[in-house]
Amino acid sequence: MPLYDVIIIGGGGAGLTAAIYTSRAMLSTLLLEKLTPGGQIALTDVVENYPGFPEGITGPEISQRMEEQAKRYGTTVQYQEVKSVAKKNGIFEIQGTEESFQARSLILAAGASFRMLGVPGEKELTGKGVSYCATCDGAFFKEKEIVVVGGGDSALQEGLFLTRFASKLTVIHRRDKLRASPILQERAKNHPKISFIWDTVVQKVYGLKKVEGLALQNVKSQQLKDFPVDGFFVFIGHDPNTSFLKGFIGLDEKGYVKAGQSLETSVPGVFAAGEIRAGAIKQLVSACGEGCEAALAAQDYLEHL
Ligand code: NAP
Repeated sequence: MPLYDVIIIGGGGAGLTAAIYTSRAMLSTLLLEKLTPGGQIALTDVVENYPGFPEGITGPEISQRMEEQAKRYGTTVQYQEVKSVAKKNGIFEIQGTEESFQARSLILAAGASFRMLGVPGEKELTGKGVSYCATCDGAFFKEKEIVVVGGGDSALQEGLFLTRFASKLTVIHRRDKLRASPILQERAKNHPKISFIWDTVVQKVYGLKKVEGLALQNVKSQQLKDFPVDGFFVFIGHDPNTSFLKGFIGLDEKGYVKAGQSLETSVPGVFAAGEIRAGAIKQLVSACGEGCEAALAAQDYLEHL
């Protein structure tokens, strides 16, 4: 089994940038990714706030370009999920779904996954009108009525994308103020296909073979309402992908990896970058910056080993 200098877990912006830096530093680098390169960015229609792309760039394209760049400098990329991590005699042992790997240092960049609402009908109707990915499923809802739940950047950005397909799009938010950035708020509020339902929660998703409607409740008046709809998209934030790290490393109360100023974690030789890290800003540009920082910290750690 080869002993890598660095294994990077997660192939989003943070992981791919770390890989570019460690492989350019001539450190043997393996990047493990469970799905596709780019992580959450690969599921985004267009990235408008990454410097250098004044017209924006599609999520899949920037993801693919970053992966190409890492591979060009020697990173090995393998597609499998990491199940557990351990340290034995100073060497990290990573158990993937298909095989195990060894490394002298680790960069954790596994990001976070979308959060589910947890209401009756949601799980049963996922893939039958309930979705968490606009770019994956939007085209199934041409000239249909869509509801988006959430009030953050994801809800509005993905909601705006879904207006390409939807005849009408309603954003349902549990408060009367959005969390999203002002530019997205302005675009959504001025969009002729978008309307808002405030102070309201979804209590249930119903439908026999596919989504037919939602049971809503106004949190101020407690009034209940039935809302017929074809598509229901949930964008209410994320939870960290850290289940494989429990018991191995220090996590905060929400499950994010605790890391210090040089992105070092509670285990020497392990660094955390991007959305997996407690306190991360959760932007592509900052994830990439942290990937660079973690790579330089890992390089320094290996030099002093
Ligand atoms: P977020 O900022 O955490 O927003 C989640 C939204 O969902 C909030 O409005 C929240 O309501 C609502 N919510 C949470 N749990 C809920 C529940 N159980 N029921 C109903 N509503 C619920 O998450 P996000 O929008 O996915 O964004 C995550 C991070 O990525 C943010 O830092 C964001 O800035 C970033 N991001 C940036 C861009 C961009 O730059 N274009 C695009 C996407 C995401 P409350 O407001 O009441 O808490």
